[in-house]
Amino acid sequence: MMAPLNSPEETFDPATPEEWAVFRTLAHRMVDDMLTHLATLREQPAWQEMPKQVRTTLANEPIPRSGMGAAAAYQDFVQNVLPYPDGNLHPRFFGWVKGNGTPLGMMADMLAAGLNPHLAGFNQAPALVEQQLINWMGDLLGMPGASGVLVTGGTMASTLAIGVARFATARNLGIDVRENGVQSWSGHKPQNPFVFYGSSETHGWARKAAEFMGLGNRAFRRVPVLSDYTMNMDALAAMVAADRAAGLTPFCVVGTAGTVNTGASDDLNAIADFCRAEKLWFHVDGAFGALAYLSEQLRPQVAGLERADSLGFDLHKWGCLPFECACVLVRDPEVHKATFAAPASYLAPATRGVIAGGLPFADRGIDLTRGFKALKAWISLKADGVDKLVRLVEQNVAQTQYLAERVQAHSDLELLAPAPLNILCLRYAPAGASESLLNAVNDEVLLRVQESGIAVPSSTVLEGRFAIRVANVNHRTRREDIDIMLDAILRFGKQVFDEMS
Ligand SMILES: *Cc1c(COP(=O)(O)O)cnc(C)c1O
Repeated sequence: MMAPLNSPEETFDPATPEEWAVFRTLAHRMVDDMLTHLATLREQPAWQEMPKQVRTTLANEPIPRSGMGAAAAYQDFVQNVLPYPDGNLHPRFFGWVKGNGTPLGMMADMLAAGLNPHLAGFNQAPALVEQQLINWMGDLLGMPGASGVLVTGGTMASTLAIGVARFATARNLGIDVRENGVQSWSGHKPQNPFVFYGSSETHGWARKAAEFMGLGNRAFRRVPVLSDYTMNMDALAAMVAADRAAGLTPFCVVGTAGTVNTGASDDLNAIADFCRAEKLWFHVDGAFGALAYLSEQLRPQVAGLERADSLGFDLHKWGCLPFECACVLVRDPEVHKATFAAPASYLAPATRGVIAGGLPFADRGIDLTRGFKALKAWISLKADGVDKLVRLVEQNVAQTQYLAERVQAHSDLELLAPAPLNILCLRYAPAGASESLLNAVNDEVLLRVQESGIAVPSSTVLEGRFAIRVANVNHRTRREDIDIMLDAILRFGKQVFDEMS
């Protein structure tokens, strides 16, 4: 028997004008509280450990069978969640490569969630906004007319691109990779393994992509780097030749614009030339570094990026937008669509009505239901202008150079790699200390700096040496923040060194 129909029927909306008024008041308070949070970041710790009681509360909450109401649930957020994020909004957050977000981006995400349009495509203004943004990015990054789609992150952007590269190569070889995958079906001649290349400094997305696409981790060939952490082109040529001789099918070379460890950029023009000569797909991972292309001063570092067959980049790192927002551009729109488009009766396009124009964005990737990520980028670029974004990118590079100068000028500090862009690796290194002691000291120094709440750098290991790694995509950072962080590293460095030696 069917349940009886409620009367009046229920909804998640406030049900009466009075309930709307109450909700409106709460909603305004949420906006005000969050703006206060953003306006007072400097007074907050860069990060703080959660108290035990907060941890327990958040980890062991019973399933809320009946609701406590929006005001009470929001109060729990204010008390237990708001004070304990990972710190990436803070002016002295330099860990990993995260972005800060912006107040306008936050409000745009609210507008996007409020409007809640379905961005598979459809005959609607938001679809034009998304396409406009993609066109702008294609024009700005030297790939006018490229096909594109917004995705969750650089990982997904580059993974989709590798999928397109594999499809394009397979099609040229008369292999139907969409129908047969990479399996050896009976009646088919077994496929030669497909392999692709990137430097050993390529971000970990490449391994995930190789594994997830069924190619296997070994299909991602790690090319050694030179002392400046860029791809060794002679080694690339030798590896491709050896793989071809062994019967493998090379299909793509990944160049990185701005590596995650040191900010080095491969010689993208050289890779483009190589790919053209060898008939290989040229993908660029420009997760953060692609935005350096927008600056005339920095463009030479990533020159050749505009020759890519595909380009993956984030707008939630150096683009400063709230998570998540990234983009993949594919120069040839036909091959992009041919890789992914999958018609279905319930999605059939029409020439009129709501689905007129079809589902172009669903046809350029894996996702069907997609949110309105483009809005925050579109509104922010319109509000602030690309020129301001360029100035902020340059500002971060100038701050990193300032940090490099301070590190080099101090006898107890050591720069562990060139810092050409916005990433810098350093360590506390008084003369005469052993490598193993320095590794232990710097590991501990990093944790103490983080736990002090003063600043959040992160770490990496370069040629066996533990590095305190500073990645600056922070639009809130001032020069004094660099000084404060460095003073903390020196203070804790001396403290830990005295304790350990
Ligand atoms: C961050 C990063 C990625 C991954 O991007 P996500 O947005 O975190 O998925 C890929 N490559 C490089 C060079 C990165 O810095």
